[in-house]
Amino acid sequence: MKKSKRTIKYLVVHCTATPEGKDFKAKDIDRWHKTRGWREIGYNYVVDLNGTIEFGRDVDKIPAQVKGFNANAIGVVYIGGVDAKGTPKDTRTTAQKASLLKLLKDLRKLYPMAKILGHRDFPNVRKACPSFDAKTEYKNI
Ligand SMILES: [Zn+2]
Repeated sequence: MKKSKRTIKYLVVHCTATPEGKDFKAKDIDRWHKTRGWREIGYNYVVDLNGTIEFGRDVDKIPAQVKGFNANAIGVVYIGGVDAKGTPKDTRTTAQKASLLKLLKDLRKLYPMAKILGHRDFPNVRKACPSFDAKTEYKNI
């Protein structure tokens, strides 16, 4: 895995806030983010429903994912995060849980000083993203 030339202080976990079981890929997120007027997908890594880890924005480029902290962050997103009604829910599949853990362990090796946090752990975030307590779940990896 490629190490960013940027100083990485935060590994930030997100969800796409798409309904449980709905299959989307990095190219879909890329399309959504371009619609917002961004150059490309805002996240650096995407964890698909089947556990496949896709590359998003190049890690040397500043991601667009957590306001005020992007310059020193890497953004990881899993597909899902809400139920059919749009209520926040930890919808991670078994494969996604395994891949997220592996990805974060690999990133932790590259950036030993970085904190692993959920999007909601940052100040002034009024979202449930990533719909589970990433800070606690990954505190010992
Ligand atoms: Zn988020």
